[in-house]
Amino acid sequence: MTDKPCVTCKWLEKSKILVNPDGQVIPCCYLANTLYLNSIKPEQGRNWNINPTLIKYKENKKRYNLNNHTLEEILTSDWFNIDLPESWESYETIPSACAVWCDERQNIQESNET
Ligand code: SF4
Repeated sequence: MTDKPCVTCKWLEKSKILVNPDGQVIPCCYLANTLYLNSIKPEQGRNWNINPTLIKYKENKKRYNLNNHTLEEILTSDWFNIDLPESWESYETIPSACAVWCDERQNIQESNET
């Protein structure tokens, strides 16, 4: 594997975002699924317990909820525009869902190995 991921955010590319019925705004279904699992049982979706970018989202979850802020405020927030994209710059910081679903280098590597 090369030392730097090459992420194409599939949802961002399609200008899509996920909004839960409770108003929570999440970048995509991949992260939403693991966040939900982690919220009901911390042993599930464990990347939310250890990845600094995901922890930052979790700790400030209310900021990304439509009951507290507008969609524009949420989508222009630092987390969506700086923290998450910067996390894609290294295999040390990339959320595991982003690596699994949207890292082209990792996918190329895996297809070469099979
Ligand atoms: S897993 Fe990460 S990179 Fe892929 S669509 Fe979701 S937020 Fe974007």
